[in-house]
Amino acid sequence: MILQIYSKALYSTWIYYAPERILFDAGEGVSLTMANRIYAIKYIFLTHGHVDHISGLWTIINSRNNSMGDREKPLTIYYPKGNTAVEEWLQFIVKVNGDLRFELNLVPITAGQKIFLRQAGSFARYVVPFRVRHTQYDQSFGYNVIEVRRRLKEEFKNLKESEIAHLSKELGQENITEAYEKKVLTISGDTYGIDPSDAFETEILLHECTFLKKEDRKMNAHAALDEVLSIAREARVKKLVLYHISTRYSGKIERYLKNLAEEPFEIHYVDPNELFTM
Ligand SMILES: [Zn+2]
Ligand SMILES: [Zn+2]
Repeated sequence: MILQIYSKALYSTWIYYAPERILFDAGEGVSLTMANRIYAIKYIFLTHGHVDHISGLWTIINSRNNSMGDREKPLTIYYPKGNTAVEEWLQFIVKVNGDLRFELNLVPITAGQKIFLRQAGSFARYVVPFRVRHTQYDQSFGYNVIEVRRRLKEEFKNLKESEIAHLSKELGQENITEAYEKKVLTISGDTYGIDPSDAFETEILLHECTFLKKEDRKMNAHAALDEVLSIAREARVKKLVLYHISTRYSGKIERYLKNLAEEPFEIHYVDPNELFTM
C-alpha cells in the first residue's frame, strides 16, 4: 500500500503516504480509520486551514498522548506560514494537552522551501510546498515529494553500453552522471487548477476535483474535471487520482468518467463514501 485516502469535499480529507509516513491534511475521522497506525505517522503536512482538512488533528495528538502506543516517536506538523486558522487551532490543541508526553514540533513553512525527509541509498527525498489558488486571505499549499536521482549526462547518452562501462571506470560514476529532481508524488490541496509546471512529469498527481461538471462551480476556489484532465496531460503525469469530490455526484461518478479510456495516463478517483487505497 502506497496511499490511503479519505476525501469528501466539505466534510473531511486526509491522505496517508506510506513510503514516507506522511499524512497530508488531517480531516475528521482520520484516527478512527487509521486506529493504531496513527503511531506510524512521522510528519503531517497541512495544505490550508479549512476545517475539513484540520479537524482531526486534535484526536491524533490526544490519542498519541494518552493511549498505550509508543510515545518515543516525535511528530512534526508543517503548515503554511501565517495561516491564522491553522495557527490558532494548533495553539488551542497544545494548550488543552498541557502535559504532552511526546515530542511535537510545529513548523511554519514557505513556498519553495525544501523539507528533507531522508536519504535512501544514493537518493535523497524532500517535500517542497508550492502556492495554490484557494483562499483569498490565507496561504494554501500544494506539495511535491521529490527524489534526487542520477542520470547519464547528455553528452554520453548515445554511447554503447560497453563504452559507458569503460568511461565509468576511467572517470568515475560521479563524473559521467548528473543529479536531477524527480517528482514522485504531487498533491494539489484545495485549489482551482494548479499550474502544470508544479506537477511536471510527476509519477502520481492527486488533484482535487470538487466539481465533475464545470457549470456546478460558483466560485473559482476549486477545480473541475476538464481542467484537471488538461493539467494532467500538459504535465505528462503517469497516474492521476481525483479526490475532494463533492457528494452531489455520489453514486454517479462513473458516468462522468466513462470517456476517459483514451487519456495517456492511468485515472483513479476517491469515492467520497469509501476509503481509497492504492
Ligand atoms: Zn476542502
Ligand atoms: Zn478548502
